[in-house]
Amino acid sequence: MIDMRSVDKHFGDLHVLRDIDLQVPTGQVLVLLGPSGSGKSTLCRTINRLETIDSGTISIDGTQMPREGKDLARLRADVGMVFQQFNLFAHKTVLQNVMLAPMKVRGTDKATARARAHELLARVGVENQAEKYPAQLSGGQQQRVAIARSLAMGPKVMLFDEPTSALDPEMVNEVLEVMVELAGEGMTMIVVTHEMGFARRAADRVIFMADGAIVEDTTPDEFFDSPRSDRARDFLSKIH
Ligand code: ADP
Ligand code: MG
Repeated sequence: MIDMRSVDKHFGDLHVLRDIDLQVPTGQVLVLLGPSGSGKSTLCRTINRLETIDSGTISIDGTQMPREGKDLARLRADVGMVFQQFNLFAHKTVLQNVMLAPMKVRGTDKATARARAHELLARVGVENQAEKYPAQLSGGQQQRVAIARSLAMGPKVMLFDEPTSALDPEMVNEVLEVMVELAGEGMTMIVVTHEMGFARRAADRVIFMADGAIVEDTTPDEFFDSPRSDRARDFLSKIH
């Protein structure tokens, strides 16, 4: 579903992604770990071309990411992304937030978009907040709306970049639950997170990055119980 080949990226002198080769099969839940600054966010952002790459190729479901134009908008719609900051439109209701992109990008008619939005809001457990504005919701509720909004585009892939890092602790689980459900439904997911419980429970695969390179590529049990690299051992000793 996701196929990255020999991807390199620099920010000026900083070599932020080093020869990344990564194939993610359909339905896989991949947790991406690594110290701050190791390139996790950049890697995610290159997958839907929020960042360009210097060399290499990235394909989604067999179609190579174009550099620009209409095709890019369509391909980008296939890759949902949820950020640490929820990025909801403050002046739109929850329902409007979820309806908007399908109407604009996919050309979905209003009635269909509304019905689908209600369905998705129910699925993430915030259907009774549909007419409110984002600021009237808790952080956990806002992040669940952000997930519903991404899902409204019918993405083939979902990227989560520290989706619970900005939340009060008591709201982390309600968001993780939605992600676990999504994983159970077969969504292809890349998740950057510090929630090691989630990684153990929901991940099929753990990738550990350091200095822009993939250092370990293994199962959660292997990674947490017997990390092979010094970098990973050092990382784990700091978060446990
Ligand atoms: P992570 O998500 O693992 O913390 P990032 O991908 O955000 O790492 O960042 C990797 C490195 O690239 C860091 O050193 C960061 O400072 C740098 N970086 C990220 N975005 C930019 C940018 N737009 N311009 C310059 N440097 C950047
Ligand atoms: Mg990051």
